[in-house]
Amino acid sequence: MLLNILFAIFSVFSLKTDASSAFSFSDETDVFPRYKKLLVDIREQNITPLEAENEFKSILGILKKSYPNTLDSSQIGNFVFPLTQSDYSAVGGNGSGFYIKNFNLFDHSVSGSHPAHDIFIYDPDQDCKDNRKQDYVDIVSVGNGVVLAVEKDWTDSSEYRGGNYVWVFDFERGGLWYYAHHRKVVVEIGQIVKPGDKLGEVGRTGFNAKNKRSDTHLHLMYLELDQDYYPKPKNYYVWLKNAETIRKSTQAEGIKRLFFGKLSLIKPLPPKKIAVRNFDLKVKRKRV
Ligand SMILES: [Zn+2]
Repeated sequence: MLLNILFAIFSVFSLKTDASSAFSFSDETDVFPRYKKLLVDIREQNITPLEAENEFKSILGILKKSYPNTLDSSQIGNFVFPLTQSDYSAVGGNGSGFYIKNFNLFDHSVSGSHPAHDIFIYDPDQDCKDNRKQDYVDIVSVGNGVVLAVEKDWTDSSEYRGGNYVWVFDFERGGLWYYAHHRKVVVEIGQIVKPGDKLGEVGRTGFNAKNKRSDTHLHLMYLELDQDYYPKPKNYYVWLKNAETIRKSTQAEGIKRLFFGKLSLIKPLPPKKIAVRNFDLKVKRKRV
């Protein structure tokens, strides 16, 4: 704890000189910008599906080595419901919204599937606030992981479907979570998130989600990886049914609110220095 405080204080004082290097990841953590580039290249069809698959497997190979998973797919573990003050009754079609016809993460031309669950808020006037409490609804991390990619700059003229999104690599389950359509994203790539940490707020961003006929929701997909790191969507409805509901989100470590309400990112730790077994992230912090 003391180390943590010292680290935060040091970061505040070093902000002026060090602000531009806040994102200087070590060599092995270039997986974060690589993953974002891969998503954009797939979306814009700058690369072939095979090239995309190879790059994905290379990135995931590095992540899996850095963060070996601790649960197998039959175990649920700690699982927090992805929206605060909500539960599985908010899942579209009682879970029947999940269907796979064709799915290929690497081929943008393949469509017609919905390998995800949509989780709704009550927002008849479509202002993104839940009418029952007249407030925005927090999207929280369901498990322990690292933020792999974010999109924050979606605008009405953007054609892509996900809108503002967050990808999290799940340490324990070893797969990938894709949270989409946020009105606001509050995490940065490389940040470590725990169950219940706020990722953003439910919104209507995305090519279809912005339309009147769409009700305000979170789109949440989970991709399991086989032994060759090939991704396959999993129907995780049973996890949602057994999830713990939390009232209030927590703030992910690494973002501290400084004077004048400014947000600052404390440099993320290189993956290999993190004790993944017990997730005690407060030990062995070392400034690099
Ligand atoms: Zn959806």
